[in-house]
Amino acid sequence: MVINSEVNKMDIKIMNILAIFAHPDDLSIFCAGTLARWANEGHNVYALCVTNGEVGTLRRDLTKEQVAAIREKELRTANEIIGVKETLILGYPDAGFINGSELREKLVYYVRKYKADRVVTFDPWVSYEVHPDHLIVGRMAAEAAAFAAFPLLYSHQSKENIEPYNCSEVWFMGLLGHKPNYFIDISSTLDRKITAALKFEATLELLANLFAPKIDPSNVSEKELKKLTKHANTLYRSLAEVIGKSMNLTTAEAFYVLKTLPGHFDNFQQSISELLGNPPEKPKIY
Ligand SMILES: [Zn+2]
Repeated sequence: MVINSEVNKMDIKIMNILAIFAHPDDLSIFCAGTLARWANEGHNVYALCVTNGEVGTLRRDLTKEQVAAIREKELRTANEIIGVKETLILGYPDAGFINGSELREKLVYYVRKYKADRVVTFDPWVSYEVHPDHLIVGRMAAEAAAFAAFPLLYSHQSKENIEPYNCSEVWFMGLLGHKPNYFIDISSTLDRKITAALKFEATLELLANLFAPKIDPSNVSEKELKKLTKHANTLYRSLAEVIGKSMNLTTAEAFYVLKTLPGHFDNFQQSISELLGNPPEKPKIY
């Protein structure tokens, strides 16, 4: 058995995977099961949170600075559970108006620095997404993935030994503007996803709001945490079950994946085929 698993490990090309998201709890909600699987398989998973998430609470007894500090701690704890190798926070204001071109330059820097083969982010082309941070982060992350290969773009980065890199895929998570074309079986990592999600007080607030309004999320006893864990299990499990069901999987997370070419997505043929009324390609399961 040991020999087989060693051989299997050797068969897998180890990738650098960079998840770029807006707020500390985004990953645990949208893709933690998948990231945990990739980390288990030996890939290098990096997490880059663009804002401090300092308005993401319903509490009134804290300052933005206190919330930012709490959420940073929560993010680092959750990412350790998921198996993330390194977590970075860029510190842009939460729910503000992020300067896209400035953010893109920074994201290109990190795609190059980590030699990211795969970027995971939000779909900026989704309908009815009201949060501007999700839209701008998704858009700039996708552009960074597609543009990091151009040597004359932000060429000053090479002074810091940051060289052009060809990131080959973008995985859009969460709310999607296109039917998913990848389903990841997360039955082996769903428990870790839930444990990670429960590290966020904002998640506890949400759960308490939905299921146990008498619980004060800022002061949760052991017994209450057990109760909230049960509700988190119900909530996350049923969501993962609904996604998995369409593909005959017990639990899954869904993504829309596009390959990149320098400056573009490699989707011309597929898009034209779909415009002509042909069905989208059959989704892949992993
Ligand atoms: Zn968010």
